[in-house]
Amino acid sequence: MQKLEFIYQARPGRVVFGVGSLQHLEREVLELGAQRALVLCTPEQRKTAEMVASRLGARMAAVFDKAVMHVPIELAREARALARQLNADCAIAVGGGSTVGLGKAIAMDSGLPILAIPTTYAGSEMTAIYGITEGGLKKTGTDVRVLPRTVIYDPDLTVTLPVGLSVTSGINAIAHAAEALYSRDANPVISLMAEEGIASLARALPGIVANSTDINARSQALYGAWLCGTTLGSVGMALHHKLCHTLGGSFNLPHAQTHTIVLPHALAYNRQAAPDAMTRIARAIGADDAAIGVYELAKGNGAPVALKDIGMKAEDVEKAAEIASSNPYWNPRPIEREAIRALLQDAFDGVSPH
Ligand code: NAD
Repeated sequence: MQKLEFIYQARPGRVVFGVGSLQHLEREVLELGAQRALVLCTPEQRKTAEMVASRLGARMAAVFDKAVMHVPIELAREARALARQLNADCAIAVGGGSTVGLGKAIAMDSGLPILAIPTTYAGSEMTAIYGITEGGLKKTGTDVRVLPRTVIYDPDLTVTLPVGLSVTSGINAIAHAAEALYSRDANPVISLMAEEGIASLARALPGIVANSTDINARSQALYGAWLCGTTLGSVGMALHHKLCHTLGGSFNLPHAQTHTIVLPHALAYNRQAAPDAMTRIARAIGADDAAIGVYELAKGNGAPVALKDIGMKAEDVEKAAEIASSNPYWNPRPIEREAIRALLQDAFDGVSPH
């Protein structure tokens, strides 16, 4: 039996979950003590943001539809200036990690409270982790000021998420929970959330692939995403997240797909070093082996399984191995340069992680 000794740090934040929960938006804005909201979105989600904004009546300041990946600081400054000019005293981020990231950047330099309405499974809304790009460099860090004060999870807003992105975004969420289970600062409460989060997503994804408007499957997936996002916001991550940062940051690979492809191989790398976590991940997926289970979940639901199929070049495998092993960080199994290279080669080729 494992020794029970841990630190559990709860994050503040209010979560309103349920189909149709968007109807409570005005109540939640008032609950924040705010009067007028600036609504943030990507250009593609303008219509959704307008629908959200229409529920605010006179409490709506404007829709700012310029959110993009990697949060350029100029955009955050522009949105902040607009909020000031319109006397907005809160921001509502409607969208995925990119839009929530813009909200966080605004909160960081202004203290404006953020209400997040997530429409993917990335989980950023539950973390105090921010990423801001300035002068071509992405700076990341943790600051409780960026944590959204309120999160409204309404599965109705996720039915438009394309099936392919739903699967990869769901496995992106599973990656948070998988690494939370073998985190250096894992604790029993977060591990319960992690296992339940993985199980919910593993159950939901085939349902979404069969019928993307199945609201029960969408609810299960969003519930899982909330739990997995909470684990990301609560305990430290390891090898898998480091590899995905390297691949996304240095080779500009797409976020959710990269997570989906790398996760089975990161789990295989840590298989012997974290047996209890592997048992729990496998159990949650309903598989015999965690790494193979995640690989089959991705493949069986039509997700890409090879980095070569999402734009990585063969010569970048060596470079990625160099970057990922050059900066030592905690992982249940120590970082071994040659083994990391082999892991990346397997992910590049898309072979099963036996
Ligand atoms: P995203 O926010 O970039 O969205 C991808 C695309 O999907 C966008 O065009 C968006 O408009 C569209 N989209 C989103 N929801 C939709 C819906 N319901 N229907 C139709 N289209 C929809 O993607 P993401 O994977 O959610 O976020 C990735 C970014 O978030 C990365 O930059 C990543 O680094 C960051 N992230 C940060 C944290 C953190 O804790 N700071 C956590 C996870 C992800």
